Amino acid sequence: MNAQVNTFTPLPCTEPGKSGAPPRPGASQDNQVKISFQGVSKTYGGRGRSGNRTLALDRMDVDIKAAEIVTVLGPTGCGKSSTLNLIAGFEQTSTGSLLIDGKPIDGPGPDRAVVFQQPSLFPWLTVMENITLGVKCRGVPKDTYEPRAQMLLREVGLSGFEKHYPYQLSGGMQQRVQIARALISEPKVLLLDEPFGALDYQTRILMQELLLQLWQEHKPTIFFITHDVSEAIFVADRVLVMSHRPGRIKLAVNVNADKPRNADFLSTPEFISLQRDLLHAVQEEVHANKNRPPMAKAA
Ligand code: ADP
Repeated sequence: MNAQVNTFTPLPCTEPGKSGAPPRPGASQDNQVKISFQGVSKTYGGRGRSGNRTLALDRMDVDIKAAEIVTVLGPTGCGKSSTLNLIAGFEQTSTGSLLIDGKPIDGPGPDRAVVFQQPSLFPWLTVMENITLGVKCRGVPKDTYEPRAQMLLREVGLSGFEKHYPYQLSGGMQQRVQIARALISEPKVLLLDEPFGALDYQTRILMQELLLQLWQEHKPTIFFITHDVSEAIFVADRVLVMSHRPGRIKLAVNVNADKPRNADFLSTPEFISLQRDLLHAVQEEVHANKNRPPMAKAA
């Protein structure tokens, strides 16, 4: 489920363990919570001729810390994009609370930026114009946004390509532009929905390294959906595995390796062990999904 580019806003949450209740699955023990899912369910449909409803997320609980990089794995249809769309403010929760900096999310805001798998650059605009269009429309002065755009172009390795058009760029370069465009408004939260899914293996690794370098510079909270277990481990502080639909957090695993990382990390015993455990957890959900009725309906 993909939408188009964008940005948004966040609030508080309970401190796990302070209420006397046990920590929720996937909940961090840190009190600097940026995003908090508290019993969040999401149901689609219920209108129209069929009136069928789909329970996509079922009482999901998870806290994400400020500047944490969380990656999300799970079988197709388990609710990963729904989760991201709720944080982005594209969708609203059906029940439960979703908080950013302690306040309910009530729509998109410039504190959140989204990058999707398919580049959504405007073909008639140059790289520089694509990156700066959003801030320009919001009335940010040119002498504020232009130096930042130049800096971001340097950081994503595209200095000298300011005047190029999207058709003159490779897929990887277009994704670099998308990331620069997302970062131009200095979002506190970066939401990534399989951003490197269409890239070849070598470019993917480069983009994963680039993402970690950018994180080092800007320290956004990152929520990153992927189907690729290696990618999920390589960039994450914590990997979440979702159960088959209706989605819940089945497993949360910390990745205790220093950042930034390079390709050497891929052959370390820690990486290989995590890869085995996570593959197993995802496979379990994929097979569980195969053995269920075609459509689970909400009550
Ligand atoms: P994933 O990203 O894990 O593939 P999604 O969040 O896209 O999963 O979808 C979860 C479930 O919710 C799926 O059954 C999907 O068909 C359903 N769904 C997602 N978005 C909508 C929508 N806008 N309207 C109706 N059903 C939806």
